[in-house]
Amino acid sequence: MLNFDDDRLMIETDHQAVGSTRVRIEDKRVINGTADVNQLVPFKYYWAWDKYLAACANHWMPQEISMARDIAQWKGKDLSEEERRIIKRNLGFFVTADSLAANNIVLGTYRHITAPECRQFLLRQAFEEAIHTHAYQYIVESLGLDEGEIFNMYREVPSIRDKDAFLMPFIETLTNPTFATGTTLHDQQLLKSIIVFACLMEGLFFYVGFVQILALGRQNKMPGASEQYQYILRDESMHCNFGIDMINAIVEENPHLWTKSFQDEIQDLFRMAVDLEYCYAEDTMPRGILGLNAHLFKQYLHFIANRRLQQIGLAPLFSSAANPFPWMAEMIDLKKEKNFFESRVTEDQTGGTLSWD
Ligand code: FE
Repeated sequence: MLNFDDDRLMIETDHQAVGSTRVRIEDKRVINGTADVNQLVPFKYYWAWDKYLAACANHWMPQEISMARDIAQWKGKDLSEEERRIIKRNLGFFVTADSLAANNIVLGTYRHITAPECRQFLLRQAFEEAIHTHAYQYIVESLGLDEGEIFNMYREVPSIRDKDAFLMPFIETLTNPTFATGTTLHDQQLLKSIIVFACLMEGLFFYVGFVQILALGRQNKMPGASEQYQYILRDESMHCNFGIDMINAIVEENPHLWTKSFQDEIQDLFRMAVDLEYCYAEDTMPRGILGLNAHLFKQYLHFIANRRLQQIGLAPLFSSAANPFPWMAEMIDLKKEKNFFESRVTEDQTGGTLSWD
């Protein structure tokens, strides 16, 4: 049953839907906009719409990738104990990470973003997070891993739990049903949460894990899992870049949010995230393996963190951080981008997989 407030809300909504005022581009804003969010055009944020189209063009599904060689390797003697530890801890983080990302979008960010082009991308992104959760579950199931062990790692393994604990307050801010934008404090909280998610969760916390599995793939180990991670990396790279564009658009439209103290706070969060991810790298591969070691990971994290800071207009925090894994850039670019479905047909015919050259 509707109470009086609901009635009034419905009348206002109806009025808005059939109202005489047409959507004007100048009323569209990424946050706190006054234009009807249900009306996609006239377009204003082409960068968001273009990314939505690109994301749709990259569609893939986990079960389209063969896990047969991975299963044979897992059951055989091809993998060392260190490699098995990496795979399990890696999945232990990722099996819940994309669900956290999905919650954050669907229950949080989406409600607070008023640009329909951005909302369109966020809907696509939410589905991709579901595909990623599906992919990790598919790997766990294919390999016959102990699901209780893997799915509880985010509660039980400190290096994983600490990363998620760092993220939780930022998710809770946005998903709190009473949270609303419209004040400087709340708009800064929203912006901070978006930065944490795009730059630190999707843009940094995922990357040690991606390097590890893709490094295995480069040695023809776990080729099916590696292929899935490659598609996930491509998607996540797009999520990260979309988030960065959205952050920069919010700051451009609301320069009063970008205070010195706010920027300092963001840099502190970057330092904390790098430390947490480094602990995770050490914990998952304590003795170094696959040409990877703790020192290289520290360098890589510094390189990525500097890059993310620069992308949102902040000064780099770490000196002389070069990329020790230049091959990762090729993975992100993923030549298959041009025609996933075409190459899938080829794979179906030949049983082949991605080339790691
Ligand atoms: Fe994502």
